[in-house]
Amino acid sequence: MAKAIRRNQPLDPVDLAAELIRRPSVTPKDEGAIPYLAGVLERLGFTCHVQEFTEPGTDPVLNLYARIGKSGRNLCFAGHTDVVPVGNREAWTIAPFAGTVMGDTLYGRGAADMKGAIACFAAAVARFLAARGPEFGGSISLLITGDEEGVSINGTKKLLDWVAATGERLDACIVGEPTNAQTLGDMVKIGRRGSMSGYLTVEGVQGHTAYPHLADNAAHRLVAMLHALTSAPLDEGTEHFQASTLQVATIDIGNTAANIIPGTARATFNIRFNDRWSSATLKDLIKQKFDAIGGRYTVDYHVSGESFLVPPGEVSDLLSSAIKRVTGRTPALTTTGGTSDARFIHHFCPLAEFGLVGLTMHKVDERVPLADIAQLTDIYAAALDLYFPAR
Ligand SMILES: [Zn+2]
Repeated sequence: MAKAIRRNQPLDPVDLAAELIRRPSVTPKDEGAIPYLAGVLERLGFTCHVQEFTEPGTDPVLNLYARIGKSGRNLCFAGHTDVVPVGNREAWTIAPFAGTVMGDTLYGRGAADMKGAIACFAAAVARFLAARGPEFGGSISLLITGDEEGVSINGTKKLLDWVAATGERLDACIVGEPTNAQTLGDMVKIGRRGSMSGYLTVEGVQGHTAYPHLADNAAHRLVAMLHALTSAPLDEGTEHFQASTLQVATIDIGNTAANIIPGTARATFNIRFNDRWSSATLKDLIKQKFDAIGGRYTVDYHVSGESFLVPPGEVSDLLSSAIKRVTGRTPALTTTGGTSDARFIHHFCPLAEFGLVGLTMHKVDERVPLADIAQLTDIYAAALDLYFPAR
């Protein structure tokens, strides 16, 4: 079945995905992945810009902006060629960077997250161009980074700034992350929760447990502060988001004696928050709660990303229509899961995220059914047809 579909493709998405998997581009390494993809796109008629970004103290990273068409609306596909490490290599039953097809499945690191989806989009464009020719009345671009799974400093954010500085405009963007939970077509993402970690240090006065009036127990105040954080929900959820959650990750006092009142106590907590909050409003709330308990304390914060929502509209409608046409399913529009580079792109144009099924991403024996690759290619091709109607 998959073979019959594949023979009609001007560009075989399984072959392309396998070639990308064979280039072991664990962040920040590229190992030829981006130049290979650029070569494929150039043969389709794209103009490709391979950009290396770096800054002091970070590893240089390769990125790609490719565009075909000089006029009309510019539909962008965004993704990443970098992959997470293989973890326990002995646990893999198939070599992680061999790009092996066994039975009806393609195996390898990046098959689902997300070299497979990049290959599907490139194959969909090849099919679209074969049918419509290069003068289809618009532009298609790919915004691909090698720094999504890592620190994301020399990746999409810098590439977007570079693209904007050259006068390019993106009108809509499909982010090809593996959004589906169980079945291809079950989920489109229209936003993401924010993530912030807090590192709390409470200072008291060390002393003898028999003489508490001469000491100030940092552990007691730490417990009261954490109780203030966890005893009431942050919210009940919003129209498109689950409730925000706060989890205490660790409590560290390091006291080895039972007769000492600790003078210092530390805790780390992580908050996944919806569009009811920003990192700034959360910090205000936490300050109020901690100040109500009083005493000396400090909190350091690390914000991995703010929450964002792209209200259902142009791109989620486009993807929903294409998914319905190919699979018969109506995808749920959700904001679950971790963060993605969509957190940078939504500042430039409307977007929605849709790719493969995420069940094996970051796992041992990452894999994707060939049937899903064929269907995702059909969905992306349908989206191109819908976005650029034939005149
Ligand atoms: Zn990814």
